[in-house]
This record gives sequence, C-alpha cells and structure tokens, in this order.
Amino acid sequence: MNDQSDHPAIAQLGNPILRAEAEPIHDLRDTRVQALIDQLLTTVQQANGVGLAAPQLSEPYRVLVIASRPSPRYPDAPEMAPIALINPRLVAHSEERVTDWEGCLSVPGIRGRVPRYESVTVEYTDRAGKLQHQEFTGFVARIFQHEYDHLHGLVFLDRVENTHDLMTEPEYQRQVLHCAA
Ligand code: ZN
Repeated sequence: MNDQSDHPAIAQLGNPILRAEAEPIHDLRDTRVQALIDQLLTTVQQANGVGLAAPQLSEPYRVLVIASRPSPRYPDAPEMAPIALINPRLVAHSEERVTDWEGCLSVPGIRGRVPRYESVTVEYTDRAGKLQHQEFTGFVARIFQHEYDHLHGLVFLDRVENTHDLMTEPEYQRQVLHCAA
C-alpha cells in the first residue's frame, strides 16, 4: 500500500507481473534476495508508502515489506520499525472485518474502500532466516493483507465490493482526508 503515484520502478496495473502467482524464496543467503529486500525497503520509504510487495518491483517472489508510519496521507498510521516478510502465510484471522480506504502505487490516482480482517496471524521467515509467528491488528493487519494479495496476483480493486466505493485521489483528498477529525 503506497502513497504516491508514478514511481519509476513500480509496475502499474495492466502489467502481467501484478497478476502472476509469486514464487517462494528458497535461499535467503542468496545476495540477490537480500538485495531485493533492501530495494523494497528503500523504495517504500522513497515513495512514502506503508508497504510494498516484490511483484510491484517486477520480481515474482514471495517477499513483502511493511513500513507503517504517519504521513500526510495516512495521518493515523502507527509508527513501526520496517519489517521484511519472506514466504509469509496467513494462518488465522479474526471473524470481524473492517472496511476502510486503501491506495496502491501500482494503481495510481485511485482510492477504494476495502473490507479486511481486523486482525491476522501470520507465519513468515525474517531476513535472517528465522521463522516468525506474529499477530497484526488494525492498520498494520490491513497493510499485510493488501501486500499478501500482491503475492497472489490480486490488487485492492479486486476486493472492493461496490464500484461506488472508488474515488479519484483528488476527491479522496478533498472529501475523506480533509474531513477527518
Ligand atoms: Zn499495492
């Protein structure tokens, strides 16, 4: 999930890489894998994003980063140390779902209201090769689900339940953000 459009490195909607199933990572000691993780962390920061998945950088692998922090576009985003999740698996989720706004660097200019699980339990390998088991809630759970979808060839538009839940970026800025308390 990202804030700005038109970052040169980001694959855009219509590029088949965004519709492909990503491949598992087998060797974290491969320097190309570590370089990809670094590139994801750098790009998400440069683009003022809160998350990014490898297919968005045209790398068809099961790697994503979550890097939530407050920004003018996500004023209530929690601050966290960025994390890289390799071969993540969603192992459990809350019954409750919450519908809220999302955007995506790969879908510039459009925001949509998307239902997501309020909390998710995730297993993944960290970049040091250690298996992690972690629960995410609220906005961070939303970021995870958005990026996880990218590993399965899905974008947030596929999760919008009604096309009336879509807005252009300028309308979103005007109607949603500037009216928020
Ligand atoms: Zn996205």
